Parts: sequence; structure tokens; C-alpha cells
Amino acid sequence: MMRKAIGIDLGGTSIYGGLIDEKGNILKRSIRDSQAQQGREKVLERIFQVIDELIEGEKVEAIGIGSPGFIDVNEGKVLSIGGNIKDWAYTDIRGELEKRFKDVPIFVENDANVAAICEAWLGAAKGLHSFIMLTLGTGVGGGIYSQESGIWHGKNYQGAELGHVILYPNGRQCNCGQKGCVEQYISGNALEKTYYEITGRKLKGKDIFKKFSEDEYAKKAVKRYIEDLGTYLISIKNIFDPEAIIIGGGVINSKEYWWNDVVKYYKQNCNNPRGTTILPAKYLNDSGMIGAAKIAFDNI
Ligand SMILES: [Zn+2]
Repeated sequence: MMRKAIGIDLGGTSIYGGLIDEKGNILKRSIRDSQAQQGREKVLERIFQVIDELIEGEKVEAIGIGSPGFIDVNEGKVLSIGGNIKDWAYTDIRGELEKRFKDVPIFVENDANVAAICEAWLGAAKGLHSFIMLTLGTGVGGGIYSQESGIWHGKNYQGAELGHVILYPNGRQCNCGQKGCVEQYISGNALEKTYYEITGRKLKGKDIFKKFSEDEYAKKAVKRYIEDLGTYLISIKNIFDPEAIIIGGGVINSKEYWWNDVVKYYKQNCNNPRGTTILPAKYLNDSGMIGAAKIAFDNI
């Protein structure tokens, strides 16, 4: 019998949970709105509900959780930054879950890192020497991975915050306190912000991409998006020289409108683009729960 683990992907909008076997097959799913604005207790309650549903009648070896924020993976705790969930900083995720699910080992990792782990295990990065994961969604997440050393956490578990590299000095105010962060220019929200700045009108990111050929303002906003993302890929290549840069997150669902132009921009403007391939993530919405289950299997 193959062993089973539960993988949980906690995001600002939804909690995705899956009962997952050792080959990465999703045997059962459970989803809840995270209702992140209601704060820690409510979010924990929803995580409990998702796990209850998945664990019912099953023998589960371990639970893995991908969470926003700085995560102390040894302690299973959130550190000073809790991402876009209210009061999430300093939540002892492992401690809270252990009270409820006794005898099941619990492992916690940063959400972008579990997405990277999934891609390394089964997805676009399978077998690669090294890669950088960029998730472009509401915000921008990052993961740094090499076969030699696995995920790069940094001394204080604050590494690979690739959304908070500064792209424009004194640029747009970021939620993190800095100005001009990459996240303010290449996330889905950023594209909406650019369009709003140009037109004074609010439009969803995917609609801005769709209007690319008919609306000159949408074209202008998307063009800027492409240049900013392409520019950032060049910086990543020059810092890490990874075998690939894997791009995931919600924005990838509109990739037909921007992908080729971003890769072209990268190739035309990078001093030495060869050696690093730009690839779309394979697992999108499921990557978090699969990667979270993988860390559970790896640690038991
Ligand atoms: Zn920032």
C-alpha cells in the first residue's frame, strides 16, 4: 500500500487541501475560502475543516502545509511577516495543528517554496540542476532551488523573497514598507494598477491582457509589464545562473498574451541569455498542495 499524506496550500484567497500518495496523485480534495481578513483563529478553523474532511476514514502519515510569510521550517512557525493573512505573523502553525491532530507529524514551509518543490518533484523543473521559481499572482513569490542544497532558506528564513527586490528606486509603495519592489510591477495586481494609472479605470488583469490588441491603453500597460518582467528575468539570470527560471501563479493563465514577448525581451536584452531556459510551471493551482505533501513524505 502506498503511503498517504495531506498537503495544504494556504493562500490569501483560498485554502486548497489534498490527500496525496507517494507518487503525487491527488486522491481527494477539499477547498475553503481562507477569509484572510477575519484573522488567525478563523483561518486556523478553516484549515482544521479542510484536514478533517481529508483525514476522515484514512490512514495519513503526515501533514504538510505551505503558508505565506517567513516560515521557520524547523519550528513550523510563522515569523515576523505573515503575508496577506490578518494576524498571521508569529502563528505557531505546527503547535496549533498538533493540538487537534495528535500523533500526525506536521511540517510547514513557505508557500512559494512548496510550489518550487512540486515543480522539482514532478513538474517543469524535474531533473534540473537548479532553478528559480517565480509565482506571479496577487503578489510575487520566489523559490531558489538546486539539487546540491535543495531549497535556499537563508540564515533567518527570510531568503528568496524575490517579490521584494527593488526594480524602481523610489517607485510604487509596497506593502512590505519598501518602495519600487518588483511585486508592484510584475504581479497581477500591478498590471491592474498600471492600467488604472493610465486610464483612471479599473479592470481585471486577465481582461487587460485580452484587450491588448483593441485598447491602446491596455497595450501600453501590458508592454510595460512585459519589459518589467523581462528585465527582472535578466537580473535573476545574472545573479543565479540557474538552469531554468520557472514562472507560475495566476498570471500564467493569460500567458498566451505575454509569454513569447517576455522571452523575446529576455533574449534580446540579456548579455548572455543562453544556458538559462524560461519555462512555465506545470502544476499551477495544485502545486502548493502537492509540494506540501512532498515535504511531509520527505521528513517522516
Ligand atoms: Zn516589497
